[in-house]
Amino acid sequence: MNSHRIKSSTAQPIGNRSRLEICATSRIYASVALAALITQGTVEAQPFQFPTANHALYENGGEEKFFVGTTGKPWNTGTFGCVRSEGHQLHEGLDIRCQTRDKRGEPVDPVMAAADGEVAYINRRPSLSNYGNYVVVRHNINGLEVFSLYAHLSEIRKDLKTGQQVKTGEKLAIMGRTANTREGISKDRAHVHFELDLLVNDRYSKWHEAALRGQRNDHGDWNGRNMLGLDPRLILLQEREQGAKFNLLAFIQHQNELCRVQVRKTNFPWLKRYGALIQPNPRATKEGVAGYELALNFIGLPFQVIPRASSELKGKSKIELLSVNQAEHDRNPCCHLVVKKGSRWELTNHGTELLELLTW
Ligand SMILES: [Zn+2]
Repeated sequence: MNSHRIKSSTAQPIGNRSRLEICATSRIYASVALAALITQGTVEAQPFQFPTANHALYENGGEEKFFVGTTGKPWNTGTFGCVRSEGHQLHEGLDIRCQTRDKRGEPVDPVMAAADGEVAYINRRPSLSNYGNYVVVRHNINGLEVFSLYAHLSEIRKDLKTGQQVKTGEKLAIMGRTANTREGISKDRAHVHFELDLLVNDRYSKWHEAALRGQRNDHGDWNGRNMLGLDPRLILLQEREQGAKFNLLAFIQHQNELCRVQVRKTNFPWLKRYGALIQPNPRATKEGVAGYELALNFIGLPFQVIPRASSELKGKSKIELLSVNQAEHDRNPCCHLVVKKGSRWELTNHGTELLELLTW
């Protein structure tokens, strides 16, 4: 169905070619190919590339061609955020539409690594996850450990192993529609579910055992609860806009604040893994760090971390809610981290659980 799609090298990842080379070569291509090359040319300086050949996000009004909505719903239900169940449910990635199908109408788009990295996890048992077959790749970008996740795959490359290095644009798998959900994914809706995540705690498995006794954990640390998603659409759009100036750390630091919390813990994995998010506080440096103040976005991602001295800590409890940004709560209500009781805001059980996991 996509025979009109550009099949020349312009649809392929650029690899090590410099931007100069690309510009020189591009003169001989037709204008469509030229535009594609210019788009690709900036990719080299950008941390993330599209995980399939579908780049329609960069076309004017290309959303319909890029995203797959849920059954009977518009394309925006395939984007990141509070877009499911009339805004009450989070979708933690992008559902990127299939472009190429075999005779039976099954998707055959190659799914490619969005950046250089190392394979962190492979699930080849589709019945064990609503993600079906999926692959997680670990990247180090602007000093941050970030993970890309590719789900609903039909076939993962046989030779792909945990710990293996992969290059940007390297094929990982073939798009599919595997999932263990009762409703499944129709041929029509075939897509790759693509996430960019930060990891909450590398002791997740132990925490799960202790906190969620009796609940199965088939995926170790790669349990959905342990991953906090960034919006890949915003990242890809900012990369195009800012080119080489795009910085993942700055992107994370500019999240909208849902709330501020204070934790009386001084040693937890987030501080090491995402140390770049820690802001200086001379008073805590002088008096000693007794806890941390965290700014959380609407999914609970701590995007700003401030060490606090004992003399600065508020309240008595292990986890203290300091403030809530009502406008952000109203805009993105689907994660239910905080709730207003009368005139007072409180952390919900879910909010408390996330912070306990974070600081465990
Ligand atoms: Zn999805």
